[in-house]
Amino acid sequence: MPTTSREDAPASAPGQLEAHVWSVPMRTRFRGLDVRDGVLVQGPAGWGEFSPFWDYDVAESRRWWRSAHEAAVLGWPDPVRGSVPVNVTVPAVGPAQAHAIVSASGCRTAKVKVAEPGQTEADDDARVEAVRDALGPAGAIRVDANTAWDVDTAVRRITALDRYGLEYVEQPCATVEELAAVRRRIDVRVAADEVVRRAADPRRVALAGAADVVVLKVQPLGGVRAALEVAEAHGLPCVVSSALESSVGIAAGVALAAALPELPFACGLATVALFTGDVTSEPLLPVDGALPVARPAPDRLAEVTADAATDRRWRERLAAVLGP
Ligand SMILES: [Mg+2]
Repeated sequence: MPTTSREDAPASAPGQLEAHVWSVPMRTRFRGLDVRDGVLVQGPAGWGEFSPFWDYDVAESRRWWRSAHEAAVLGWPDPVRGSVPVNVTVPAVGPAQAHAIVSASGCRTAKVKVAEPGQTEADDDARVEAVRDALGPAGAIRVDANTAWDVDTAVRRITALDRYGLEYVEQPCATVEELAAVRRRIDVRVAADEVVRRAADPRRVALAGAADVVVLKVQPLGGVRAALEVAEAHGLPCVVSSALESSVGIAAGVALAAALPELPFACGLATVALFTGDVTSEPLLPVDGALPVARPAPDRLAEVTADAATDRRWRERLAAVLGP
């Protein structure tokens, strides 16, 4: 049974796809994670990744499985470009570290985490200022608040941070209505991320007046084809971002970015740089601010094999997602 992007479609039988569980420590805590882990499967079309974050339940994780199944069994649509411009991702670190991360990346666009729980507005100001200094005036800065602000706080903080020049602000508030209210009061573009990817049907979220940019993530949307349908449904410029995958999962994001008819902004796919290791000897790390359209083979799996408890948790999770 081929995978489809339909919400009511089965998650697809596992067939004989063998699961390989990987685990890699993060360089810096990001999205509350110190370690990232997941499952790789190999099929006739290549390797696929299944790595829903642990706060995604079984029902939500089925889309992530469809993405892995598509990669392993169906393959991806043909690319229309040979490389994908990417941004460096700056976690909620201090200004000196932020400066160093951006300088070392070779990227001309930076995405900066702001509104991290436990941090102050001054921390965000200092981080964004340091990133602007590292990029120079020609670089682009986007900030991601991950739904942390209410409308008034968002307007006040975006206005303050735009002192350093912002390309867009990603998901400043939680709901579509709030995004629209913020967007009416600021001059910075608004990007919709969580509000699309966690919707029951990401194609049907009413973004008119609420967003200028749509963030697409392959696994949460159910694969490259499903994400292309989301892009087409909204008709807005799209940015492909990772869900902090290994290079096997990042390759799916690159395939999506390479297949989109238009790609006006850099993509958030340089996140392997946040890891201390990878599943492959040819990690998808940016050169000159871009990633090649490539599918690295996971030839280093033995070096990133998960411990027994993690391995068991992932196999149980996969069984639940594939179950009745
Ligand atoms: Mg985001």
